[in-house]
Amino acid sequence: MKRVRCPKCDNYIVFDETRYVDGQALVFECSNCHKEFGIRIGKSKLQEKHEEKKLDENAYSEDYGSIVVVENVFTYKQVIPLELGENEFGRYIQGTNINKPIETRDPSIDTYHCCITVKRTKNGQIQYILRDAPSDTGTFHMNEILKNNDRINLSDGDIITIGATTLILRAAPDGTN
Ligand SMILES: [Zn+2]
Repeated sequence: MKRVRCPKCDNYIVFDETRYVDGQALVFECSNCHKEFGIRIGKSKLQEKHEEKKLDENAYSEDYGSIVVVENVFTYKQVIPLELGENEFGRYIQGTNINKPIETRDPSIDTYHCCITVKRTKNGQIQYILRDAPSDTGTFHMNEILKNNDRINLSDGDIITIGATTLILRAAPDGTN
């Protein structure tokens, strides 16, 4: 048996994958909220590798860079594009009002945990400034916890930890916008 999660309400749906052939597209209706959504089963390792590579390439091709959420027991790998202004990160919940929710079950991530402000300086450089929301468990930059008033300038490849989850900044190349 396998399980999939409803993208709308987080309800799990269990199904017997052996009844289907590889690559077959399935449509589910969530028993809880009745949302319909599709998945494709039995993806080959090669396909998965290909998709992973594409995700990494996309992470760099965004206008203002992006945040890569590293896969762990609570979440799958995600690439979240950044935008000019405030990018508010936290754990996705239904009806969330932050603009960069992370799909995760990590209980130590607050529903609003940290913020990355993206700015463009007069000479065209893009700046990334990290601050804690504030959160209950803190925001870490390169393993150091941020103090309340800390505003940290980030560079490409910097590692941010919130809860048990690792985020990596993929900065946009300067001056390409
Ligand atoms: Zn649902």
